[in-house]
Amino acid sequence: MKLGVQAHSRVLTQGTFVCPSCRADSPYERVEARRWLFVGVAVAPLQRLGEWIRCTQCEGAWDLDVLEQQPEDAVAFRTAVLQAMIGMMTVDGRIDDSEVEVIRTVYLRVVREDLDEHAVRGVVAVLETLSEPVEESLRRLAVELGSVERELVFQAAWRVAMADGVIATEEGRMLERLSDALGFSDVWLKNFLSATNPALAERR
Ligand SMILES: [Zn+2]
Repeated sequence: MKLGVQAHSRVLTQGTFVCPSCRADSPYERVEARRWLFVGVAVAPLQRLGEWIRCTQCEGAWDLDVLEQQPEDAVAFRTAVLQAMIGMMTVDGRIDDSEVEVIRTVYLRVVREDLDEHAVRGVVAVLETLSEPVEESLRRLAVELGSVERELVFQAAWRVAMADGVIATEEGRMLERLSDALGFSDVWLKNFLSATNPALAERR
């Protein structure tokens, strides 16, 4: 039997985190690489080569620190903003390039952070695999948000709907569902819309 030393990596734990590249909740693996003594099979761990966090969404590798960098509520807020915007975009079908640009612009305005196009596409892809409507996952996230954050989330969806200057019927319905999911009353929604777009509120 052959004796040797080989580098070998293995997954220690798994979880979800906000990947700095995907900018959304992504699954990760905590990976450890070590040299192992082999006698046919691995028999003894030797020198530790490193440990890192690997995003299974984008395959990016990050220092262990990445897990401590973002508080939970910020995670919920960013995720909620993205979900609300993308939910609004998808009421009229698939998301095209100009709509990705709108999402980036609104995100920068509301969250004050840059979002790259790749990240938006990544989140859209993840949302497409969800079996529940976006407003249902938003309803769960809303519990973790304060009222200012919930309003910002709604504003983001509204800005997306208003990007082409008019709110189509389907978009109006989606705004109602998002408003309800975020815990706002009909009166609140009516006031919001009349404060931001009087002409629209009159038509309702
Ligand atoms: Zn990632």
